[in-house]
Amino acid sequence: MVGVIGDPVSHSRSPAIHNAAFAALGLDFVYVALPVAAGRGRDAVAAVRTLGLAGLNVTMPHKADVAATCDELSPAAAALGSVNTVVNHDGHVVGDSTDGPGLVAALRELGVDPAGRRVLVLGAGGAARAIVDALGRVGGGVTVAARRVEAGERAAALAPGAATVGFDDLDRAVVAADVVVNATPIGMQGEPPPFDPAILTDAQLVYDTVYHPSPTPLLAAAAARGIPCADGIGMLVHQAALAFVQWTGQAAPIEVMAAAAREGT
Ligand code: NAP
Repeated sequence: MVGVIGDPVSHSRSPAIHNAAFAALGLDFVYVALPVAAGRGRDAVAAVRTLGLAGLNVTMPHKADVAATCDELSPAAAALGSVNTVVNHDGHVVGDSTDGPGLVAALRELGVDPAGRRVLVLGAGGAARAIVDALGRVGGGVTVAARRVEAGERAAALAPGAATVGFDDLDRAVVAADVVVNATPIGMQGEPPPFDPAILTDAQLVYDTVYHPSPTPLLAAAAARGIPCADGIGMLVHQAALAFVQWTGQAAPIEVMAAAAREGT
């Protein structure tokens, strides 16, 4: 058994994504949503050992607490101080952070290898930090755009040579980027993008980590102008696939997982 701990957790698409994958491969696994109150993340990790669970996904508000209680952390989880995946190796619990590598895999699936590309990341929160860390590990050239300068600088410190820019100076950074990644919630409530999409060109890729609703106003504007663009479903699927492989030892059925993820959008 595996599952996701969080509060709230009932909205999670992870059970549908993973259970579809288990069924497709005929694996004797089940994935459940487990509401766990703030402050009880350590108990959940202890339960992984006690119950012999294959692992867990971890969402708000437990990501830092769980990182502090794992027996070992992946390099990304250690750098971020945050865990979204727990893997049980015979009672030795390893924490990983698969969101950033999930975004990198999603970009590659779209035909864009971020290595050596200039990637502008909007935001400096949990998702943005994971993305910046992963881009740095694969040799992406990162600029972090944040409305709070200190938060932007802390995120940029995760990737070698990363630059920061304020939201007040966004246009220049957008024009200079090969890939623009929205890692803020902007667009979830129908808000317009924080820059004029008219400055984008079709040589760029716009990736919006938001997947509900889809398309966001940013993606709709980019698509209307013929700019390559994608929503956050690919990142969601690939972060799940990276956990799936660690729990089951099997290659993840990406198409099946993507179809399950899209259901309900
Ligand atoms: P978070 O930790 O709360 O961080 C949000 C970031 O966005 C912060 O830097 C915040 O700045 C900034 N922000 C929020 N509203 C803004 C605005 N109006 N203008 C400028 N900056 C703004 O959230 P998170 O966990 O990083 O998640 C961010 C988004 O990523 C979510 O909405 C979700 O849709 C998406 N996401 C997608 C996936 C996926 O698999 N596709 C995974 C995780 C997250 P302040 O600190 O100044 O508030």
